[in-house]
Formats: sequence, C-alpha cells, structure tokens
Amino acid sequence: MKKCIATLLITSVLFAILPVAASAAKISDNPYYLDINKARYKAYQAAHPDLPVNAAIAYVNADIDKGFYNGIETVADPDSISVLVNKNFNLPLGYEPDDLVSIGGGYRLRAEAAAQLQKMKADMTALGYKIYVMSAYRTYQSQLNKYETGVKLYGVAVADSEYARPGHSEHQTGLAVDILQRSNVCDMEQAKFENSKEFAWLTENAYKYGFILRYPEEYLDIHGFIFEPWHWRYVGVGVATAMHDEGIALFEEYYGRHLAPGINASTPE
Ligand code: ZN
Repeated sequence: MKKCIATLLITSVLFAILPVAASAAKISDNPYYLDINKARYKAYQAAHPDLPVNAAIAYVNADIDKGFYNGIETVADPDSISVLVNKNFNLPLGYEPDDLVSIGGGYRLRAEAAAQLQKMKADMTALGYKIYVMSAYRTYQSQLNKYETGVKLYGVAVADSEYARPGHSEHQTGLAVDILQRSNVCDMEQAKFENSKEFAWLTENAYKYGFILRYPEEYLDIHGFIFEPWHWRYVGVGVATAMHDEGIALFEEYYGRHLAPGINASTPE
C-alpha cells in the first residue's frame, strides 16, 4: 500500500513538471519559430494564454501582435499571387496590377484570378448555383473615397471594421472579389449570403479553384473586419489547397507559418 502511494506521488509530481518542460521545449523547436520574434512570442502568449502555440507564433510572424495600422510594413512583392495585404501590410503607393482583365459587368481582376473565377462560376452554373460579382478590382482612389465616406457616415471605428484604409485593401491587388447569390442588393449584409447554398458550396469547394474566404466569422479579432461572407480572395490553388489540408482558416495564420520572411517551410506553387 505504501508503495502504491509513493508511486502515485512520483507520478503526480512528474505530471506536474512535464507539461511545463514540454511547452518550454515546444516554442523554440516549433518549425515556425523565428529567433528575432522571441520576445514578442512571449508577450503575445502571456496576453493570450489559451491560444495554441502554432497560432500564437504564426500571428506574431504576421505582425498581429502590433495592433491594427501600427508598425505598418509595405509589401516587398505586391505582384505575388499570395501577397498578404491587411491592416498591417500595405501596397506600395500608386500600385496597380499590370495584368487586369475584364470579368464583365464593368469589373476587373488579375488575369489568373479572372480565369479561375470564370472556371469556378461555370462549374457552379452547371450544378445549378448562381453567383453575381458585386465588386472586384478597386483603385487606391476608389478605396480612399469608400473609406472616407464610411468615416463621414459612421465614424472611424465603424468605418475601420467595414472598409480597409486606402493602400490596405485586397481589392487593390486585383485578387479579391465580392460575390453574392443575387444581384439586386444595396446592402451586402442584407443578402445573408452565409445562409445560401452557394456559400455552402464555396466553403467546400472554392479552394480547388484557388479561392479562400478571407474574413471568417471566428477570427474577427485577428483580421479586424466584420464577417464578410461575400469577400473571396484568390491566393492560387497551391496555397488554398495547403490551407484546406492543414485546416487553416485564416490567411494571416498561413502567412505566419509559411510565407513570412525568414520562414524555411516551402511554399506550394
Ligand atoms: Zn471585398
């Protein structure tokens, strides 16, 4: 009996020590760990103790810990199909893609995104689904007008939750498209696209064409926008499929794991 108690004691002591040792080992052994961000990981983890280690590291690698529109970096390769543009990364001033093509209705996208959208749309039509493009490429100036109108009408906080600031919009990359299941809508939220069969289909299949849902509802604090079921971003079939296979819903997390400067992990074509 005494022996049993002793064994139990040793076991419980071991279990008390092990998780600490394991989590301490995890951080620097993590494949996404960058030594330059060491102190920031520590601070971010302390502020978000429930966040899985992979996510915490990825978010810091994606500058989420800096806060929105703070410590803004200008992207080095704005023409990259997998460019991250958000509240911490902007496009170089005056950026305009040089391969924009018409997708009908007065809208334009970059050639590869346009071709993949048309392919996806044709496959959806064949299956009985209908989608309508509500917005695609936007110039810096049109984004500036949109944002400034938003600020005038609703104030900065609400405007920031609904419109990217000029230079920070994915629409300026020519790789983002707003889609709805019907076209006669003046307020995007009114359409309740998230309840449509088209949205359900896209959630299951859009990655096969290289598109991802960019502002998922579960990550409002991380991407900083309202839930936008209509906003889909072309990142290429390789990246979209890798996100699907790795179970990553948020592009910032994928960027922090695979695309941030200094990360060794290879990027799918
Ligand atoms: Zn959009």
